[in-house]
Amino acid sequence: MAERIKKKTDKPNVKRESEAALPAENLDPFEISRQRFEQAAAYLVDFKRGLIDFFKNPKRTIAVCYPVQMDDGSVHTFHGYRVLHNKVMGPGKGGIRYHPDLTADEVAALAALMTWKCALVNVPFGGAKGGVICHPKHLSETELRIITRRFVSELGDNIGPYIDVPAPDMYTNQQTMAWIYDTYDALHPGQNNRPVVTGKPLELGGSLGRDQATGRGCLYATERFLEKQRLPQLPSITGARVAIQGFGEVGATAARLFNEAGASIVAVSDSQGAIVLEQGLDLTRVMAHKAENGTVVGTAETQTISNAELLGVDCDILIPAALGNQIRGDNAASVSTSLIVEAANNPVTPLADEILYRKGIVVLPDILVNGGGVVVSFFEWVQNISNEVWELEDINQKLRQRMHRAVETVTDRWQALNTISGDETNGAAADIRTAAWIVAIERLARATLQRGIWP
Ligand code: NAD
Repeated sequence: MAERIKKKTDKPNVKRESEAALPAENLDPFEISRQRFEQAAAYLVDFKRGLIDFFKNPKRTIAVCYPVQMDDGSVHTFHGYRVLHNKVMGPGKGGIRYHPDLTADEVAALAALMTWKCALVNVPFGGAKGGVICHPKHLSETELRIITRRFVSELGDNIGPYIDVPAPDMYTNQQTMAWIYDTYDALHPGQNNRPVVTGKPLELGGSLGRDQATGRGCLYATERFLEKQRLPQLPSITGARVAIQGFGEVGATAARLFNEAGASIVAVSDSQGAIVLEQGLDLTRVMAHKAENGTVVGTAETQTISNAELLGVDCDILIPAALGNQIRGDNAASVSTSLIVEAANNPVTPLADEILYRKGIVVLPDILVNGGGVVVSFFEWVQNISNEVWELEDINQKLRQRMHRAVETVTDRWQALNTISGDETNGAAADIRTAAWIVAIERLARATLQRGIWP
């Protein structure tokens, strides 16, 4: 699709100067997703405008409701969703989360994010997401198994190896994926059903490297970005001072890998608080403390700070790896770093983007840097279809190539946007997030038109 770039004057207004004058932010994830889409689409003047509504909305939303008999004999009704945002590139792909506050809008926003993420890292999947409203911490394993099996049976043929392929997400894990596979397999006998779900235990066709893939992908994306000397003040990961919010699968992996790559991890946090050590944390000690006490807080020789303070720690790279909407209009001014690497989904709000941009802080966006998980999920799917088991070294090598290629494509587009706008500095006309969305939207638009609008 031919595309021209609008002039700098078309850029959204970024004139707000004082924190006091900031308007209240809309933190609704679906609205944020639409806003980001529109901001990027505004740069694509040859884009077929009729596709906008198609790309902004989910292709299919399934809402299910079913009763479950609980351990104590009572009956409880559960509500679940599966949203397929887009399937132009291939079957849907995205996690299933269990959470008491889950909403259909949140699921739809995360499904859309998956579409753009898959397009950017070039895996042949569309975007999907799902979940059940429940409180996993208050449920027994038996109850969770029944909730999962019934959810899968309610979804019926709306999931499948070539239709829509779930994965773990918040409060679901390998065990949940094993139940999904087993239930689907029972309902569809006589065929290889392993590729119906990814994130499975290794014994059931899970892939080596999947548990580390998102954190590892963040490392590869960051290393390539810095190798291209995009930040003169930060030439490489070696020697960088890194702060990480969240110390779960993604955050703890990123901490270990960035440290192995030569960075000093100066602060980390979890839901109970944050710790900081100016000369760099001893991660072995932090992990041992977390394993023993369930939190990083209290690790010997560290200073305890609040989670809010962690986001303002002076560092070179800040990695939010916990929740959405963490860096907002009300706290972005206190962020003191050169680079933000969005390991979590939607950790920086649009208003915060504007503030960070004016401060000269570069944000590597979620759809670009946290796609490592879906890349290795794709590798799992391919291994399952071909009944193969790949070596970990091969998987990491292939992951590195994909993350590097995605970063190169996006940063080249970022540079092109800024050059055309007559501003070749980092204080550029469009940020990297916008460039990433533009690349993803273009790819999907091109594929949609190449397939032809049916009939
Ligand atoms: P996880 O549950 O393993 O870890 C989450 C961590 O965040 C935990 O350490 C938890 O204590 C911490 N946390 C919770 N609330 C916090 C708060 N208020 N302040 C600071 N820390 C807090 O989850 P994960 O798999 O590591 O995922 C982290 C983020 O990355 C999520 O936003 C997830 O959607 C996103 N993500 C994960 C993957 C993946 O493959 N796991 C892929 C893409 C994106």
